[in-house]
Amino acid sequence: MVLMNDFLAEDGNLRREIANSIADVIGSGWYILGDREKKFCKEWAKTCGVDHVVGLGNGLDAIEVALRALKIGPGDEVITTGMTAFATVLAIVRAGATPVLADIDPATGLLDPGSVERCITRNTRAVVPVHLYGHVARMNEWLALCRNAKIHLVEDCAQAHLASQDGRVAGSFGIAGAYSFYPTKNLGAFGDAGALVTNDAALALCVERMRNYGQGERYHHVEWGMNSRLDEMQAAILSVRLKYLEGWTRRRQSTARRYRSELKSPSIRTLAAPANEAAHVYHLFVVTCEDRDRLQAYLADVGIQTYAHYPIPVHRQPICKGLRVDPVGLSNTERHAKSCLSLPCHAQMTDDQISKVIDCVNRYKG
Ligand SMILES: *Cc1c(COP(=O)(O)O)cnc(C)c1O
Repeated sequence: MVLMNDFLAEDGNLRREIANSIADVIGSGWYILGDREKKFCKEWAKTCGVDHVVGLGNGLDAIEVALRALKIGPGDEVITTGMTAFATVLAIVRAGATPVLADIDPATGLLDPGSVERCITRNTRAVVPVHLYGHVARMNEWLALCRNAKIHLVEDCAQAHLASQDGRVAGSFGIAGAYSFYPTKNLGAFGDAGALVTNDAALALCVERMRNYGQGERYHHVEWGMNSRLDEMQAAILSVRLKYLEGWTRRRQSTARRYRSELKSPSIRTLAAPANEAAHVYHLFVVTCEDRDRLQAYLADVGIQTYAHYPIPVHRQPICKGLRVDPVGLSNTERHAKSCLSLPCHAQMTDDQISKVIDCVNRYKG
């Protein structure tokens, strides 16, 4: 079986190094908000080229605290995409704000600036583009749009570790970037973990308090916070795994290159290639096919696991009935949800497995 993720196929030395780092944490006698969290955040700040990183419990919270620290809440609107992990929209709701869904560019699956323009009202406070599938694009357009509309740019970077445009890494464009280190992400912990990245010292300080019950000085609670801390065990694991991230990313990119040049089936389309290789880290390699469900069933039959990201767009979830969307509708999002399919492209795939995926897809009769 070719799997979407295969942790057990990871390098034995890496697994041993992680086991040792866990033993170190256990032996240290200190488990939450200690030296390992500080060390990893410093490393991640350097990686992203930002001044501040705050370790958090997960990616959902990272988006929520970014908005809350920007004082975005009840009565405020935040524009994002319905073609994303549900967490993006849930975070906006949890911050107390009103999500508004704009449509996507069908060529990439990414949020469409033209549609976002149509969604802006005088209550709009921020736009949250998602670097979907690992693709960072049109950042100059987003910066200009936000400057003109006087709204904040908050990046959902949960799928885009190391992705960059013009040498700037995901999360360093907007006022804040939200990362998830859920195990299946390009950089994953062995549990839940996340981080907020920013160049804004005041924002970082506010989020540092917020993740820890709103506590400033010990026992002094200066705001209504929450509990969302990156623990020492996950931080230690992330520091070890970070050393491998560049290599894993290059492997994903070379797999994507093979898919792009060797997938030939006329009934299957790949999404638009990035402007340059560094802009896409292929958290997912997504194709579209009119008869997606049949393609998926066929691939399962021949031993290839696939998922659709995402088959039910946010505005089609029953609890999202009544959510405001682009006044002309979300037809591109709808079409993409019906046709998208993610092929395996994780860093542990062997050359033979990649060839097998290519051969099987090419043998598919649409
Ligand atoms: C995974 C993911 C999240 C949520 O991250 P968690 O750590 O699972 O809370 C948010 N947005 C996107 C685009 C994601 O892929």
